[in-house]
Amino acid sequence: MAPKGDNVVVSNMKLERLLSMKGGKGETSYANNSQAQALHARSMLHLIEETLDGVQLNSSEVPFVVVDLGCSCGSNTIYIVDVIIKHMIKRYEALGYEPPEFSAFFSDLPSNDFNTLFQLLPPQANYGGSMEECLASDSHRSYFVAGVPGSFYRRLFPARSIDVFHSAFSLHWLSQVPDSVLDKRSKAYNKGRVFIHGAGENTANAYRKQFQTDLTGFLASRSQEMKRGGSMFLVCLGRTSVDPTDQGGAGLLFGTHFQDAWDDLVQEGLISNEKRDNFNIPVYAPSLQDFREIVEADGSFAINKLEVFKGGSPLVVSQPDDAVEVGRALANSCRSVSGVLVDAHIGDRLSEELFLRVERRAASHAKDLLEQLQFFHIVASLSFA
Ligand code: SAH
Repeated sequence: MAPKGDNVVVSNMKLERLLSMKGGKGETSYANNSQAQALHARSMLHLIEETLDGVQLNSSEVPFVVVDLGCSCGSNTIYIVDVIIKHMIKRYEALGYEPPEFSAFFSDLPSNDFNTLFQLLPPQANYGGSMEECLASDSHRSYFVAGVPGSFYRRLFPARSIDVFHSAFSLHWLSQVPDSVLDKRSKAYNKGRVFIHGAGENTANAYRKQFQTDLTGFLASRSQEMKRGGSMFLVCLGRTSVDPTDQGGAGLLFGTHFQDAWDDLVQEGLISNEKRDNFNIPVYAPSLQDFREIVEADGSFAINKLEVFKGGSPLVVSQPDDAVEVGRALANSCRSVSGVLVDAHIGDRLSEELFLRVERRAASHAKDLLEQLQFFHIVASLSFA
C-alpha cells in the first residue's frame, strides 16, 4: 500500500469511506468550528417547527422516530434533535394525547467521529420518572439513541419506519468527484482548479449531473423509509446565481484563498500541477431551480416550502478588526470540513503547509472576507402523503 498522502488520489478511494469532518475536540475540529452552522440553524427554527406541525401524529404505543442525516460530530445535531422531540411532545400534549416514546438516529458516513458525538449526548432521563420531570430537566434527554453509519444516498432504514428526517448542511456533499472531472482526456477535466467555482462549462455540467444523480438517490431512499404522513426538513448550501460556476459563499471558501494556497504549493515545487488538479472538493451548491427540478422529477414528496435562505457568514470571530484572527477562522473553518480529504491527498505535513498559506492569504484580505463571505442555503420542507 502507498504511504498515506504519497501517491494516493482521493478519487481512487471510495469517497464515502474517507469523508468526514475533522473529528475530536481540537482547534481545527468540526466540533469547534461549527458555531456558524449553529447560528444559521437557529435562525431557521420557525421553519422546522412549521414542518413539524404538518407531521401526522400516530398512536402513542408506537415509538416516534426522528433521524438526523449528516449529523457529524458536534453538538448541533443534538440541539436540533432535542428541538424536534420537544416540539412533537408539545403537539401531542396540546391535543390531550399521551406522547409516545422517541427514538433518534444519528446518521453519517462510517468515518464520522461517532465517539465524540456520543460523549456529547446528555444522559438519558430516568424513565421511571414522569414526562414532566423529564421535560423540566434540560440536561437530560427524553429519547433513545443509536448511530447509523452509511451514505444517505442509499437506503439506511427499514421501509415505512421513520416519522421525521432532518438534514442540515450536508446534501451539498457529492457522493464522489465526477470521474470525468479527474480524467485528463475529458473536456470536463478541471485543469488548474480544485473546485467547480470559476471552472469551465463542461466541469460544471459534470458536477451538476452528479448532484442530480445523488439527490435522486437520496429522495428515492427516503420515500421508501418514511412513514405516510411524515416530513423532511432539508438545508444545504445553495447559490443565488443561475451559473453553477459561481458557487457563491462556497465558491469564496474553496475557490479563492484555498485555491491560491494550492497554487502556492505548486509554484514552490512542493507538489506537481497534476497532484493539485487531481484534488477536487466534492461540493455542489445548487440553485433553487436545480433542487426543485429533482424533487419534482422524483414526485414522491409534496413541497411545503422550497426557498433560498440567507444564512450569513461562516466566520465567527471575537475581534473582527484582528486580521490574524479572521485569517485563522477562515483556515480553521475550511480545514474542519475539507482537512480530512486534503490530508489523504497530500499527507499531513503538506496539508499543514497548505492551511498555513490559506490562513496568511485570508488574513491579508480579512476586511473583504468579513464583508463578502456570505452563505445562502436551500431550505426544503417536504412531506410524504
Ligand atoms: N448537520 C451537522 C453537520 C454538517 S457537516 C450540523 O448541522 O452541524 C456535513 C456532514 O455531512 C458531515 O459530517 C459529512 O460526513 C456528512 N456527509 C457528507 N456526505 C454524506 C453522505 N453521502 N452520507 C451521509 N453523510 C454524509
